[in-house]
Amino acid sequence: MKKVELHLHLDGSVRPTTISELLKIDLEEAVKLSSLTQKTNSLKEYLTKFDIPLKIMQTKENLIRISKELAEDLLKENVIYAEIRFAPNKHLEKSLTLEEVVSSVLKGLKEIPLKTNLILCMMRGDSFEKNLEIIKLAKKYLNHGVVGIDLAGNEAAYSVNDYQELFQIAKEKRIPFTIHAGEGDGALSVKNAINLGATRIGHGIRAIEDENVLKLIKEKNITLEVCPKSNLDTNMYNCLEEHPIKKLYDLGIKVTINTDNRTVSNTTLNKTYEELEKTFHFTEEDFINMNKNALLCAFISKSELEELKKELLK
Ligand SMILES: [Zn+2]
Repeated sequence: MKKVELHLHLDGSVRPTTISELLKIDLEEAVKLSSLTQKTNSLKEYLTKFDIPLKIMQTKENLIRISKELAEDLLKENVIYAEIRFAPNKHLEKSLTLEEVVSSVLKGLKEIPLKTNLILCMMRGDSFEKNLEIIKLAKKYLNHGVVGIDLAGNEAAYSVNDYQELFQIAKEKRIPFTIHAGEGDGALSVKNAINLGATRIGHGIRAIEDENVLKLIKEKNITLEVCPKSNLDTNMYNCLEEHPIKKLYDLGIKVTINTDNRTVSNTTLNKTYEELEKTFHFTEEDFINMNKNALLCAFISKSELEELKKELLK
């Protein structure tokens, strides 16, 4: 079926074959270094799997190739629209400029006939100045391949509220944003992210732990970018049966289905849909609803929304 994906990290979705080729290591070794072979204990440990792909994502040539390959993989899965995110500041080790990083990724994506846009990630733990650069960068490319910003990284160690001033600036510049919350940290982080003005929450599943936060999500019509496999990998839940996606959906909360990191989590959208269907008996209609939810909160214009809605239901 046709799908929309809103929460997908470029650096966590590099093909292992490409890692193997560019680092000149065995495929088996590349898989071991970039994918989780067993459950980790924490989001912090999960985040170490990005070190290897980031090593090869420091040149224009490699950024173009990796972006193109991801778009190709999405197209094969019948994705009709994707918002791909990454943190430009992590690609400056070989003296590329922030503009060169973004332009290279956009160039790679454009090589494949799939509608995509970028979300630029500010990082928890990065300085105010460094994250401010990302806001300025997003403004520069806004509606020219970039459609918003995000806050990623170790949630438990850095509160959403530490970034209040940055999101205020983003609001003033009219840059749409989503915030990672309610995964490594509890329901309060979701509430904080909503109070900062986020209309979409990356993960947000731990809202299930607080009725008042669930109420707030419904009142404000917030959409959750749910990434089930990723939540299992960071040991949030022991098995998919324990994952709150069905409960959230049944409560009438707008959920969407995403992979987060294809390579790190060794998954695809197709696999994710299959597992969700098997575990929770979601129907085709449910999945269509979730994809409609995704389009409704995507950082696109009204006319693009109408066009994609037609395409989704065709
Ligand atoms: Zn994420």
